[in-house]
Amino acid sequence: QQVVDLAAEPFHLDGHEISIGASAGISICKPGCGCTDVDQILREADLALYNVKAEGRGSYQYFKESMNVRLLERKGLESDLRRAIHEDEFRVFYQPQVDAASRKLVGVEALVRWEHPKRGLVGPAEFIDVAEETGFIREIGQFVLETACSDLASWNDIKLAVNLSPVQFRKQGITKIISDTLAATQFDPQRLELEITESVLLMEDAETDAILVSLKNMGISIAMDDFGTGYSSLSYLRKFPFDKLKIDRNFIADMGHDADSNAIVQAVIRLAKSLGMRLNAEGVETHLQADILHLEGCDELQGYFFGKPMPLADLKEWANKPREEKAISAC
Ligand code: C2E
Ligand code: CA
Ligand code: CA
Repeated sequence: QQVVDLAAEPFHLDGHEISIGASAGISICKPGCGCTDVDQILREADLALYNVKAEGRGSYQYFKESMNVRLLERKGLESDLRRAIHEDEFRVFYQPQVDAASRKLVGVEALVRWEHPKRGLVGPAEFIDVAEETGFIREIGQFVLETACSDLASWNDIKLAVNLSPVQFRKQGITKIISDTLAATQFDPQRLELEITESVLLMEDAETDAILVSLKNMGISIAMDDFGTGYSSLSYLRKFPFDKLKIDRNFIADMGHDADSNAIVQAVIRLAKSLGMRLNAEGVETHLQADILHLEGCDELQGYFFGKPMPLADLKEWANKPREEKAISAC
């Protein structure tokens, strides 16, 4: 604990206050236990460290046997994912995004699903982390981009939002990969919106800026996803002209019964407006939330109230329904 505390103390560098943290995993070899496998002890300490990081970092843990069980599960998921890529088990679902005033469909967000042969439809929350750690997200993300562009190439009047993981972003030649995909699917770059999270900008360097600028120069829009969570450093809003901010759905969920969330939502709407960025509110589940957000000046709404993420065939049906039925069917 002392080591962790010491490492967490801020220090000064070039006139800036810098804070770094430390996490520690500990494995103890008891005297006389006869254990000679140094690699084993290191592996155990590493596992304990992995657990600290998974639980939020800046702390320490001792190795426990149960951590081995979790490692095995993770390894299982890893090989299952490898197989799934091979067997084409991923599917792309689409969630409608509507104009807050007219409630007309203005875009869709592509969201990946895993059609597991035994477990059925598995949501991304269960595998995105491991896919990012193993790098599989590059293949999965590319599959989502290709599929979504070709599925929606002929839907000329709406935008397509695709999530871009920081791991994909860091891949060499990412702009070329994206422009090749657009060309191959004959998808108009002006209709593509890439959603990135703050973690992409944490690698703040000249290369990150250059990639964002070249994507923008291709005509692609860039949206900041999950706005208000994470590190929430506002300085990047000044550096890069995002086309859209997507306020995190936790703030929307708490609207109405948490004054602080209301205040944050209002402030973010004003912030987006004064920076000339569009604002999308995610996770809209009720009529009331939709109305308040519209009155407050939010541009775009997305959430179960309008439609859950759905396969392409259902989206086509949804798009043809009259406006009133859309909201009712989602309740
Ligand atoms: P996200 O990008 O923030 O996507 C929105 C998530 O909120 C989706 O969860 C969506 O189903 C859910 N959602 C939308 N409206 C509502 C609502 O009214 N109420 C509630 N409770 N939830 C709502 P999903 O599909 O499970 O995706 C979870 C996350 O996984 C996404 O969060 C995104 O970070 C990641 N993800 C999904 N697809 C991809 C992908 O193709 N590539 C990458 N890199 N990440 C993806
Ligand atoms: Ca998103
Ligand atoms: Ca989001």
